[in-house]
Amino acid sequence: MIHEMLRTKMLGGALTDAGNYLRGTYRGYYLVLEPAASGKYLIRVNAHASNDPNNVKLQAFLDSKSANYMVAPRYFELLVNLPQTADDIPDAVNGALDPVIDFLSAGGYVSGCECCGGNTPAPECYNVNGTHRFICANCPDTVKQNYRNSQKGAFFPGICGAFVGALIGGALWILIYRLGYIAGIAGAVSAICAMKGYELLGKRLDMKGIIGSVVIMIATIFLASRISWSWDMYDILREYDYDFKTIFLHFSEILDTFEASGDYIKELLIGYGLTAVCSVGYIIEAVRSGRTQNCQISKES
Ligand SMILES: [Zn+2]
Repeated sequence: MIHEMLRTKMLGGALTDAGNYLRGTYRGYYLVLEPAASGKYLIRVNAHASNDPNNVKLQAFLDSKSANYMVAPRYFELLVNLPQTADDIPDAVNGALDPVIDFLSAGGYVSGCECCGGNTPAPECYNVNGTHRFICANCPDTVKQNYRNSQKGAFFPGICGAFVGALIGGALWILIYRLGYIAGIAGAVSAICAMKGYELLGKRLDMKGIIGSVVIMIATIFLASRISWSWDMYDILREYDYDFKTIFLHFSEILDTFEASGDYIKELLIGYGLTAVCSVGYIIEAVRSGRTQNCQISKES
């Protein structure tokens, strides 16, 4: 991953080159250094202390250093910008990490498995969804389970998001219909808005989210279509003193009087059909991405 001469200067040469990342123990702490997004590097260090549950004090310390970090109960991650000049990289890494390691040593922090904190069996490096972590042989299943739990969508906020999204689609349906076009395409927009809305507030579009969004979308299209047609009828019937509410509530009877039930149902079915055609790809994609978000874990050689 990095030139051998630089590696030996970095953290006293404690890390070994594992191809596209470095790993090892430095001053008693398990750590990996791997490339992160947007040209940055991530240093993941396993550390915890009995007198600092959940690493709260460690978090306060990193805060005071205004570091770019993430703290978990038994490890933390530091995001560092490495200098463009390769020769400056070892100093940059040492400079970022040494003060933190000093703090850990002085505070009695110890290092172990990132998941359980233990040292028996000794942690080894695992690949977890493309990241590298020191985990003991007892913990891969727990890591998987924790990951699955963290990926669960939040149903109630998600449904609220889907509702707002569907409302936008429904309003569009009515607008397109008023302009005199087949509003069916707005059904597809409504479907996509509902699912995007779910994703936005529910964090993740899982199977529950898809079913919830589809139900909301079916109801929205039904309502939007009925409002659009009632509006048309109102335009005709208002000179006979009908108000919109009466028309909307006695919709079917009035539809029969106009002998337009067939046309109405046909248009509604076209709307649902277009919605289905346009949203099926989106649903398949959501199901597929939901599957790939399962935790992939394997031991590094
Ligand atoms: Zn463990």
